[in-house]
Amino acid sequence: MQNANVALLSSAPFNTPIGKSVNDYLFCPQNLSDYQIGALQSLTLVNKAMVNARQPFSGVSPHRLAQQVNQINLATPAASFENVLSEVESIYLNNAVYFHHPDYVAHLNCPVAYPAVLAEQILSAVNTSVDTWDQSGGATLIEQKLINWTCEQLGFDSQADGIFTSGGTQSNLMGMLMAREQAVARYCPEHCVKHQGLPAIASKFRIFTSQLSHFSIQKAAALLGLGYESVIAVATDAQFKMDPTALSQAIDTAKLHGLIPICINATAGTTDYGSIDNLDQLAQIARQHAMWFHVDAAYGGGLLLSEQYRHRLSGIEHADSVTLDYHKSFMQPVSSSAFLCRNRQHFSHITLHSDYLNPLCEKDQGYPNLVDKSLQTTRRFDALKLWMTLRMMGPALLGEGIDNILALARQCYDLLYTHPDFEVLNDPELSAIVFRFAPAGLTNTTPDELNPAIRDAFLQSGEAMIARTQVAGAHYLKFTLLNPATTITDLQRVVQRISELGWALMRENQ
Ligand SMILES: *Cc1c(COP(=O)(O)O)cnc(C)c1O
Repeated sequence: MQNANVALLSSAPFNTPIGKSVNDYLFCPQNLSDYQIGALQSLTLVNKAMVNARQPFSGVSPHRLAQQVNQINLATPAASFENVLSEVESIYLNNAVYFHHPDYVAHLNCPVAYPAVLAEQILSAVNTSVDTWDQSGGATLIEQKLINWTCEQLGFDSQADGIFTSGGTQSNLMGMLMAREQAVARYCPEHCVKHQGLPAIASKFRIFTSQLSHFSIQKAAALLGLGYESVIAVATDAQFKMDPTALSQAIDTAKLHGLIPICINATAGTTDYGSIDNLDQLAQIARQHAMWFHVDAAYGGGLLLSEQYRHRLSGIEHADSVTLDYHKSFMQPVSSSAFLCRNRQHFSHITLHSDYLNPLCEKDQGYPNLVDKSLQTTRRFDALKLWMTLRMMGPALLGEGIDNILALARQCYDLLYTHPDFEVLNDPELSAIVFRFAPAGLTNTTPDELNPAIRDAFLQSGEAMIARTQVAGAHYLKFTLLNPATTITDLQRVVQRISELGWALMRENQ
């Protein structure tokens, strides 16, 4: 019934000739009927692309697709809107990677909740920027309420605050920035980094993070003037969690060498294994050494909503700051992420008042200007997506999705563990499983040759999308499950194909 409606409306002629006048294309009441027709045609196209996506990717090579893209002359517009759409279809939609497809099991990309897609439409149309009250109005309050809600989920009290960011990378940068500032305040209290840049003592600052933590920690250290060498990679245990004993030893050793440990970054959901560091224990070590405690829950943050697995994040309430990606485990479209801080005072390190944008007097007048807490100035109103998702679904359903994904990961682990062709490295705490094709009786070839070849074959056929990783120099494959609609039957099919490909490649090598 609904589909029939869309089809009917979309067959209406779209009669704005391209190239009339600039005002004909403004998003304003006069042009809304044209927009509406265009919107329905676009939606029909997306619908067709998603229905037709029998596999997650076409497998096209970048070289072949580039030829098509390069042929398009941007100097002159297309002859009609239909032409624009068919161009988009052929270079983008037919060759996009579809995260809603059950055979997409590669990276940390989730299928999205459609209430969030509806929100995208609204927020882009209004084009709010949530930097200042006078560019956003109500949007600022919506974002702030979601930030407060997230802080409550973390177990933070009313001293906490936060901000939406572009992603975990930016959130981690903010976390490391606050760690650096706290250390300067402690070890060099007369110094103000904002005005004077880094003090000499900053060359002694050290950040401790597990060897499996996200590379954005290193990136942040470099951007903050501390350098890659300030990041000390701590060994992980058999469960791929930061080893607390190794951590304590590394801190002591650093101190012996006259270095200054300033921060522990715990990962709640490593990108490769989904392993969650022992937050309670690491928090205690951080407190003992007066270090900043940041928790990178970019991946694992979704557990906050799970009744069954929330306890796996126990200790996160002790964090000084937290990174959380709604675009990973809250079914949100890119981008949607947050940085949360247990004590809002720390945001003063990034506040800069400008006469034109957010003068200090406005703060006294009670106008909330979120730019005071953000690295960005003009900023998307991504919060509306999470807002509409929560208002339509409620947090419990999102949590149920997480429960289903974790249950699926366990079934998948059992499948691989009992399969004679595979070796599995981790019993998944979240939904990432690292494994490799390594059957007994391989001749003339090794798993290290076969596994990268298997992954390349999938990338070139597009029939399923799987990830790869390396463990101590050896090549592995990886599944990351974030789709609550994926079933074990889907995964059985993918595993079966990996096995078939593996054996076929082995025969080729003979
Ligand atoms: C994905 C990820 C990040 C980076 O987040 P983006 O949103 O991609 O910038 C950081 N940390 C962890 C553990 C991640 O999985």
